[in-house]
Amino acid sequence: MLTVDEAQRIVLQSVPQLPAERVPLLDALGCTLSEQVVADLDLPPFDNSAMDGYAVVAADTSGATPENPRALKVVEDLPAGAAPARRVKPGTAARIMTGAPIPPGADAVVMVERTRPGGPGSVAVLEPAAAGDNIRPAGEDIRRGEPALSPGEVLGPGEMALLAALGRTSVAVTRRPRASVLITGSELVAPGQPLEHCSLPAGAIYDSNATLMAARLMSAGARVDRCLHAADDERAVEEALRDCADSDIILTTGGVSVGQYDFVKVALQRLGEIKFWRVLMKPGKPVAFGTVLGRPLFGLPGNPVSALVTFELLVAPALRKMMGRKDCLPPTVHAVLLSDIDHKPGRREYRQAVTRATDDGYVVQASEKRGSAMLTSTVGANSLVVVPEPSPGLRAGEKVTVIYPAYLDWLP
Ligand code: AMP
Ligand code: MG
Repeated sequence: MLTVDEAQRIVLQSVPQLPAERVPLLDALGCTLSEQVVADLDLPPFDNSAMDGYAVVAADTSGATPENPRALKVVEDLPAGAAPARRVKPGTAARIMTGAPIPPGADAVVMVERTRPGGPGSVAVLEPAAAGDNIRPAGEDIRRGEPALSPGEVLGPGEMALLAALGRTSVAVTRRPRASVLITGSELVAPGQPLEHCSLPAGAIYDSNATLMAARLMSAGARVDRCLHAADDERAVEEALRDCADSDIILTTGGVSVGQYDFVKVALQRLGEIKFWRVLMKPGKPVAFGTVLGRPLFGLPGNPVSALVTFELLVAPALRKMMGRKDCLPPTVHAVLLSDIDHKPGRREYRQAVTRATDDGYVVQASEKRGSAMLTSTVGANSLVVVPEPSPGLRAGEKVTVIYPAYLDWLP
């Protein structure tokens, strides 16, 4: 059976990076830039005030104190957006607001808190200013012609705002993967329908994987094109998979074990090829990966927690590669374990956990619940404790490896 590392290697070798496309700026959140962006203007575009106050000739204020202030005649009012009409000559000042252009002649701004009203039409400056004080010079953020963002950069709110500040409305990024989800299981009922009176006899449960898969795909930056449901029936599974053949990635849940009604593997064999089936991990051993009609397909287990863990370990890396990310494997930190975790040597185990930063580094609390069908183990979880294959168990106080942050991708 494959190790998790081998399975991840096969996945990352098999899936392609997607091509670039130009999208409206706000559609690019979490995407990877695929163009070189050069500033085509200075930021800020002109010298401007960093404070509300008075634009002055710095030399005029030399030696000013509250007891012995310098009185300057106010020649103009400059709100943000105003164009200065008057030169600030020695002995004069312009009242100026944050962001307004520095008028000609002035070489410093005195904050309003360092002044008090003088006589009519004048201001009293209470302390000396040096040339350049409270002035944001043109181009101090970035100069025209300088590189602003490079290909491969992940676009978060700040990077997107920089593009806006440069006047852009669209940007070229690696395309988001378009995903199809196929939920298999004859026992499954869509939430919203009554369980008791549905057409199924006793034994029906609500489908939680459609929601799980769609939510995790969204938090990975992918687009969910469709979410289908097929009963445990060879033809139904095959037909549904054919409907997914226009996707960049196909996820199925359920039907990949060795049960009599596990038809996903059969369909994979008929419509494409299996690259692996079963990985030495817990939960999630019966996970399959291959291609269907030329598209990568992940056959995830039906138990919801197993589906979530296999998504994190195998699907999330694939999506990152598709989206042009450089670091595709799950991010890890070391953390001090707060309570014991039992483990039978054999498979690498992943336990739902809450990790948080303290003054002394990260600490991690694993969920008491470990059943692969127990969704309450995921409540509040932001991470997975990694229990190595040969480990006889982890003890409280030990430093352990944790996949953190989990379940959320688009943060750079
Ligand atoms: P399977 O992998 O199809 O053998 O399913 C394993 C377990 O997960 C069974 O108890 C299923 O009822 C359950 N299961 C499968 N799919 C879902 C789903 N979409 N939502 C909730 N539970 C599921
Ligand atoms: Mg099933």
